Amino acid sequence: MPISDCYDIVVIGAGFFGMNIAEYFARRGKKVLLCEKYEACMTRASYTNQARIHNGYHYPRSVLTAMRSRISFPRFVKEFPECVVNDFSKYYGIGKILSKVNARQFEEFCNRIGAECEEASPSVMKLFDSHYIEKIFRVREYAFDSKKLCEIMMKRIREANVELSCSTSVEKVLEHNGGLKVEIVTEDGKYVISAKHVFNCTYSNINSVNQSSGIKLIPLKYEMTEMALVEVPDELKDKAFTIMCGPFFSLMPFPSRDLYSLSHVRYTPHYEWYDDRDKYISPLTVCDLDKKETAFHEMQFDSARYLPLIRKCRYRDSLWEVKTLLPSSETDDSRPILFKMNYELNGYHCVMGGKIDNVYDIITTIDQNKEVFL
Ligand SMILES: Cc1cc2nc3c(=O)[nH]c(=O)nc-3n(C[C@H](O)[C@H](O)[C@H](O)COP(=O)(O)OP(=O)(O)OC[C@H]3O[C@@H](n4cnc5c(N)ncnc54)[C@H](O)[C@@H]3O)c2cc1C
Repeated sequence: MPISDCYDIVVIGAGFFGMNIAEYFARRGKKVLLCEKYEACMTRASYTNQARIHNGYHYPRSVLTAMRSRISFPRFVKEFPECVVNDFSKYYGIGKILSKVNARQFEEFCNRIGAECEEASPSVMKLFDSHYIEKIFRVREYAFDSKKLCEIMMKRIREANVELSCSTSVEKVLEHNGGLKVEIVTEDGKYVISAKHVFNCTYSNINSVNQSSGIKLIPLKYEMTEMALVEVPDELKDKAFTIMCGPFFSLMPFPSRDLYSLSHVRYTPHYEWYDDRDKYISPLTVCDLDKKETAFHEMQFDSARYLPLIRKCRYRDSLWEVKTLLPSSETDDSRPILFKMNYELNGYHCVMGGKIDNVYDIITTIDQNKEVFL
């Protein structure tokens, strides 16, 4: 339950984005309330993801996204060294069939964005079936430990004096006397608080708050995704692989569980949908109701055509999350940010980033507009 009924800033959603924004304002002397629907912070997309610290390689079809990653990568690595995992070799492979990029184009792209990339050693190349793989490159890309990242962010928001209210769901945001009124539901009941600014950082749930507040929905695309968590055979330990750029797979360390995640472009998204104002259903509810029937065997079967040792991976668990994309990402697989300032209501701002390090673009945008908020 919030200790006051009046705040400068209310942030909805204690994922990585909400926590960063809350800290930003609290460090500048603002009275900030951070509301999180679940019992703990960073349990949704900020935990349930592939844990890749992007360094540009993943976006040969969107140079802008690649360049942004190149800028954010060293910044993230420097800012969160305790959660960076780099004790593995990272390889990007180029498929021979159905790939949207060939080895020459990938190499040129890496040169263009200034990202290190060298041909993998013959022993690594031998792990792959040469009928399906044109070339393997060794690159510089790391993973992050999302539990450690959460611990760091918890410490930071505490030190900045952010008031955190977990098990607190924001139901509605309404205009009131030139400011905003925020309706929240906690374990103790319903409350109404007032705020000068409200940041909706709820990722897949952004439109749920908009819908219940009678605000126009933002066009978003949703994918019900599954990433399988696996134990890898000794031959694959300390290595990570991503095959570009088409219906292929990634095998990445998932440090917070000491396992690897296996994802596949064809089988990780189980289905997709867009919002319908008349039959609106919250993506978090869709995720809760999903039967969660694993597609691990399909992922494993297809990936093993390229990397036969994947047959030896042992399934341990799956991570399920609703991936949320801006429709503009569909054509070029880019990861732009969503930042809707004063969205339908004065002082109400909707924020979403397609990858963890997009947080820097969001904070920069806030900083560039600080006279609006401070
Ligand atoms: C399958 C998958 C793989 C990904 N892989 C990567 C990757 O490898 N690298 C990378 O950088 N990015 C990756 N991403 C993207 C990354 O996970 C997201 O960009 C990032 O986590 C978004 O953070 P967030 O804080 O906006 O969302 P979240 O972490 O989901 O936080 C939103 C919070 O809002 C809360 N909330 C929702 N509704 C309400 C409400 N009404 N009231 C109060 N609280 C509410 C939720 O409980 C949640 O805690 C991946 C995403 C997915 C789904």
